[in-house]
Amino acid sequence: MLICPVCSAPLAEAGGALKCPDGHSFDLAASGYCNLLTGSRNGKFIGDDREMVAARRRFLESGAYAPLRDALCARLLAMTEGRAGLSLLDAGCGEGYYTRAAAAALAGAGRLLQAVGTDISKSATRYAAGRDRAVRYVTANSYHLPVADGAVDLILSLFAPAPAEEFLRILAPGGLVIRAVPGADHLWELKQAVYDEPYRNREEKHRLPGFAERDRVRVEYPFTLDSPDRIRDLFAMTPYARRTPRQGLERLEKLERLDVTFSFLLLTCEPAGA
Ligand SMILES: [Zn+2]
Repeated sequence: MLICPVCSAPLAEAGGALKCPDGHSFDLAASGYCNLLTGSRNGKFIGDDREMVAARRRFLESGAYAPLRDALCARLLAMTEGRAGLSLLDAGCGEGYYTRAAAAALAGAGRLLQAVGTDISKSATRYAAGRDRAVRYVTANSYHLPVADGAVDLILSLFAPAPAEEFLRILAPGGLVIRAVPGADHLWELKQAVYDEPYRNREEKHRLPGFAERDRVRVEYPFTLDSPDRIRDLFAMTPYARRTPRQGLERLEKLERLDVTFSFLLLTCEPAGA
C-alpha cells in the first residue's frame, strides 16, 4: 500500500528501513514507526503537539468514547460482510485509539490483509506504533498520502481532514470511506458553559465532493465529566481550545463537574456512481 513520498515507487521493508527501488530510504523505528514526511513538511511543530496528544490519550483511555469506537467497529463489520483480504487506512489516526480497534475487529472476522495509520503528528504516530504491532503507523500528510493509487478498500477519516480527491485516488474499486463527524448537539453543555452565545454544529457541512452517502448512523449518549482534569482534557481535544476568549476559559476553570452530550455521525461514503 505504501509508496515512496519522493518518487512514488513502491516501498518495501529492508534492513530496518522502508526503501524504494530508486534508493530513497526511510528509517523504521523498533516499534515499526516510520516518518514519511519530506521536505519543508518535515518540520517539528506541525500537527498536534505532545501535550495535546497526552490530553487526548488520557481522555480516550477513560472510555468516554468507547461507545463510538464500538459503533465504528460494528459499522465496519456490517459494511464488509462477505469480503476478505481488505486493506484499511486510517487517515489522521492520532494515537491510534480507533485504528487499533478497527483493525482488530476486521482481523478477528478474517477480513483484514493490511492496516496503515497515518497522521501529520510525529508524537501521535510514534505513540500509536508503540502500542500496536498489527498496524503500520507512519507520519504523513493526508493531502499527499504516500499510498498507491487504488490500493485501499477502507478509509477511516475520524474527526480528521477528508481530502476527497486524494481519497478517490487511493480507493480500490468497491472501496468505502467511513467518517466520524460531530453531531449537532455534540458537547452542547460544554459550549453553554464557556460561551455567551453557543451554536450547534452544522452537520450538513460534512459532504464529501465526488462521494455519495451510503449509510448514516447517529451515536449519541450522555456522559458525566466528574473532575476538573477530565473537563480540561476534553476541552483540550476540541477546536475551541485555541479560540476561546479568556473569559470563557476562566468559566471553564471553575467547573468541578459537567454533564455533557456526546453526539457523533458515522457516515459511510462511496465514490458517486459506484
Ligand atoms: Zn523513491
